[in-house]
This record gives sequence, structure tokens and C-alpha cells, in this order.
Amino acid sequence: MKKIPEYVPGKSIDEVKRLFGLKKVVKLASNENPYGPSPKVLEVLRSFDKFHIYPSPSEMEELIERISEYLGVEGERIVIGAGIDGILENVFKMFVDPLDEVVIPIPSFPYYHTLTSVMNGKEIRVRRKGNFQIDEEAILNSITEKTKIIIVCSPNNPTGNIEDADTVRAIVESCNALVFIDEAYAEFASRDLLELSEYENVVIARTFSKAFGLANLRIGYAVMSSELKKAYMKVTTPFPVSSIAILAAIASLEDLRHMRSCVEKIRAERARLYAGLKDRVKVCPSEANFLFFESLMKASELAEELMKRGVIVRDCSKFVGCSPFSVRVSIGRREENDEFLKALDEVLRG
Ligand SMILES: *Cc1c(COP(=O)(O)O)cnc(C)c1O
Repeated sequence: MKKIPEYVPGKSIDEVKRLFGLKKVVKLASNENPYGPSPKVLEVLRSFDKFHIYPSPSEMEELIERISEYLGVEGERIVIGAGIDGILENVFKMFVDPLDEVVIPIPSFPYYHTLTSVMNGKEIRVRRKGNFQIDEEAILNSITEKTKIIIVCSPNNPTGNIEDADTVRAIVESCNALVFIDEAYAEFASRDLLELSEYENVVIARTFSKAFGLANLRIGYAVMSSELKKAYMKVTTPFPVSSIAILAAIASLEDLRHMRSCVEKIRAERARLYAGLKDRVKVCPSEANFLFFESLMKASELAEELMKRGVIVRDCSKFVGCSPFSVRVSIGRREENDEFLKALDEVLRG
């Protein structure tokens, strides 16, 4: 069997309750939307009764139309997938043969490393600059005739920074490799990279998991050239997403007010949490629904101590390119964030 890096998800609330005998546990580890999806989603799901029928292409077409209106991009350039993860898997299947190279600016989302390994590709790690923005020159220097995919994650998980369109454009224009732009957190950011979707060698991926609060339904989408979409449709599983997920996504787009109100609250809390953290730890400004920080305590120890106090954060010390002190905390509801700050204070004061 192949040696593939293991994806280690964070511990669940129930696990932590059991482990430490706690009644109340706050999970700020997976960048979920603490307010959940629109009530319209719940309504649609309650009345669903076609469990025995395969998803119909017309539902998919309707969702594509809604996304097309939401983004202002033609439907013939939009694909739906089982989350960005599912879309990444298909795109890697299309582009990466054994020994092909995938350029990954580090640190970033761990699944890029997993997929490269699954495809027997070769990962080319390029360290980010001091502010965690991608290093254009280093990336351009790393490109060879074997380079098939260059990953750009903006806002980047786990660091939270966004990329400049001009920097990414320069990379897109100077190579034939596919530039995969992961915008899982676009709704939380002040600007996005959608303008680059016009290029033949660009895929821009988005999801309903984060701002729309549908992480459990596994549904995302991507914008690509219509040529690329044709090739993509040959590679994907015949029914990548359930009708439930499709109908929930449609309902989400029919209630953008809900999503925007969640984003507004999360941004306000992000600013408050940042202010609360900046005198205690080294915290990075963020355009996403999480904050990345380093303290003087080892991240594994800090995460463990916080967990004992009922707060789950993400220890990022095992992320490729992170330091032993790197921690990511998702922005929760106000009271959850207060629990986190209180526990952190206790832990750091010793
Ligand atoms: C959460 C996340 C994903 C996964 O999104 P799904 O649509 O739930 O598969 C992809 N990329 C990044 C950077 C993420 O943080």
C-alpha cells in the first residue's frame, strides 16, 4: 500500500466531553459556521421524500443557474462537486500522472499534500513570504515542464491572508500549468480572485461548507473554462452530490441575507477576537473565519490545555511549513470566543 500522509481531523465535542468529563465544550477547530444554515434550508430538507431516487440532472442544472446568477459567470463554466475536496480530487485525477509536479505554497490546506501523494505526483513545496503571501518569484522559479498544478489558497488556510490578483495573474500568464485557486473562505474576505476565472488554465473553487453553513452536506462548486468543464464531466462520478445537498444549496442561495448576516457577525467577532489576542500572542490579520497565531507554548501543549478547559482549537504544528507553535482558532459565537479567551488567559498565565 502507498504511504500517504494521514488526515487527522480535530476531536469532536462528544469525544472531548467524555475524555475530560466536561459538561460544556466549545469547538473552534474546523472553521464551521456557528450559526448554521438558513432556516429555508431546514424547511426544504424537512419536506424531502425522494430518498430512493437518484439525483436528477435538472436539479443540478437549476443549482448551476443559481450559482451563475450569484457569481455573474456563465453556467457552462460551472461544475458542482462533493465539496471543494471532491472537486480537488477530480482535478488531480485529470491533471496529475505519476512523477508530475504539484506546486504547493506552504503552509496551506493539508489535503493538497494528500492528493499529490495519492496520485503519485511530486510535491514542490514553496515557502511563503513573511506575511504568508505567496512568493511569486520562488513559485516561478519552481516551475518545470513537469509542473501540472499550482495551488493558490486565498484566503489561505491556516494563515488567513489573501493574495493580490496581480501576483496570481503573473503566475497564471507565465505558465501552462493549471492554477487551482481555492476560495473556500471568499465570502469572509474583502476581495476575491474571480476575475482570473477567464483564463483557460485557471480553476476557482468555492464551497457551501463555510459561509453557508452546510459543511455536513458536502457540496461545493468550481468555475473553469467550458473546455475544461467538458473534460471534468468525464472524470467525475456520475452522481457526486445528493439531491438533499443540491436543494439545500439552492435554498441557501435564495436566502443570501442569512449568509451575509452570518458573515457580518463573524467579521465583527474576528475583529474583537483579534484585538483580544494581539497583546497575548503573535496573531496574524485574517480575511477568513479563523485566526492564526503563535504563542510561546508548544501548540500541542496549548491545544491540550485548552481542551481540558473545554475549548477545542486546531494545533497546526503538524501542518507542512508551520512551526511547533502554530495554532488556528475558528471564529465562533460571541460567548464561545469569550470562553476561548478566558481559557487561553488561564493557560498562558500558567
Ligand atoms: C474547508 C476547506 C476546504 C473543504 O471544503 P469542502 O467544500 O467542505 O470540501 C477546502 N479548502 C480549504 C482551504 C478549506 O479550508
